[in-house]
Amino acid sequence: MEQKLYIYNTLTRKKELFHAPNAPHVGMYVCGPTLYSDVHIGNCRTFTSFDIMFRYLTHIGYKVRYVRNITDVGHLEDENAGTGEDRIGKQARLKKLEPMEIVNRYAFGFREVMGLLNLLPPSIEPLASGHIIEQIEMTQEIIKRGYAYEKDGSVYFDVEKFAKEHNYGVLSGRSLEDQLNNTRDLDGQEEKKGRLDFALWKKAKPEHIMRWNSPWGEGFPGWHIECSAMGKKYLGETFDIHGGGMDLIPTHHTNEVAQSVGCCGNAPVRYWVHTNMLTLNGQKMSRSLGNVFLPVELFTGMKLATDSPSATPSQAKLDGKHPLFEKGYSPMTVRFFMLQTHYSSTLDFSNEALQAAEKGFRKLMEAIRVLGKLKTGATSTSNISALQQKCYDAMNDDFNTSILLANLFEAVRIINTVNDGKETITESDLNLLRELMHDFVIDVLGLKDDIRESAGDTTEGLMQLIIKMRAEARAKKDFATSDLVRDELAKLNIVLKDSKEGTGWELKS
Ligand code: AMP
Ligand code: ZN
Repeated sequence: MEQKLYIYNTLTRKKELFHAPNAPHVGMYVCGPTLYSDVHIGNCRTFTSFDIMFRYLTHIGYKVRYVRNITDVGHLEDENAGTGEDRIGKQARLKKLEPMEIVNRYAFGFREVMGLLNLLPPSIEPLASGHIIEQIEMTQEIIKRGYAYEKDGSVYFDVEKFAKEHNYGVLSGRSLEDQLNNTRDLDGQEEKKGRLDFALWKKAKPEHIMRWNSPWGEGFPGWHIECSAMGKKYLGETFDIHGGGMDLIPTHHTNEVAQSVGCCGNAPVRYWVHTNMLTLNGQKMSRSLGNVFLPVELFTGMKLATDSPSATPSQAKLDGKHPLFEKGYSPMTVRFFMLQTHYSSTLDFSNEALQAAEKGFRKLMEAIRVLGKLKTGATSTSNISALQQKCYDAMNDDFNTSILLANLFEAVRIINTVNDGKETITESDLNLLRELMHDFVIDVLGLKDDIRESAGDTTEGLMQLIIKMRAEARAKKDFATSDLVRDELAKLNIVLKDSKEGTGWELKS
């Protein structure tokens, strides 16, 4: 590959030059959502960050197989403790529905939101319940190699045994003593040999809904084994990139590494990539804390498939009307807001930050429209090719979308000054500038003008008609009419912009 891409690897705790032994093929696995309720904006941030990585890797020439699973079984209420009811099973019980009905309903909403945020669909989106055999086989292999034991119909991973031969805390950087000291002693965990042992397979109690036959009796898989089994199945025993939110490092991903090493003898992943949390007033947004924002509570001007029988109840209810927010925002404004911060930093969600993002996003989209009609000159005042290199440098530095946006706003400045006639640009530089904006704004950052799109073709047609009638009034020196049109439109937050090329319009924020 032409580009030298550096990625921060949680495994080594440093930025490393990305090397894919099977290039141009790259395998990337990202832990997907547990679909017992709607995904929140925090989840969306993580998936958006990986969408950017998927897009950039593809842009620089890799052929990426991107696997993002859906967890539909085995994720317990208190996963760290390995106790509580299955999250989906519980919803199925409460709502008197099939577990698959719960998952289907929220999967529909999840895909719809991912589409609104313009996330590309992953190459494979496997369900844990569709890979029970693979999980059983992996568990059998781990038992055979001596790292797991069966107890009364359940199978547990023997962490202390594993830790004698391997570094169990390789991802978290935590010692076994430290982890043991920070783990609670729990009731009903007598079956386990050690406090850190975790379930690969759980015996199903009589009331448990989701259950399968296994060599150990009827039961269901533990949460962690699904990702190890599906990653191995679709990407191989060792693959390139594995991602998820940072909150998954100490348990879920630590256990994934242990399972894969325990089963196959080698580390499953070359680059572990973790995204930081979206916070609300400094606190992690999470379903268990109850401080979540759902995309539909924030997005505005969107047509959601609320009529669909599988739409989630919350989708039917709300549209940009969360009590904490003064107004709603378009999905692309939210996407832009997220990209302003590097994925490894926390990102606090607030009205002010979204308002600022909306202004920036409109400015960027407006510049792209102006770019289409720029005139060329004999010389260029700015160095476009150096600017293009800076955009690549930003993305090559661990997908730094924040610095990329700063460079794209330099491009916006150039576009506007050339448009004002204060700078000039040659034809070849203008082509390069168009390529740069297309590559980075549309392909890599995945932004599109949804504020305008949501206004729809009808509005555009009506606006063109109004603009034409106003121009005719002015031509007849009927300024009373032309001023009236402008003032009435202003009341609707529509601003008319006159320039040499004609009159354009824009929605004021
Ligand atoms: P879950 O459905 O809770 O298993 O989460 C799905 C993904 O979203 C995981 O990769 C989590 O790490 C991530 N996630 C959960 N909460 C947040 C948050 N507040 N900010 C960013 N990512 C999150
Ligand atoms: Zn996972």
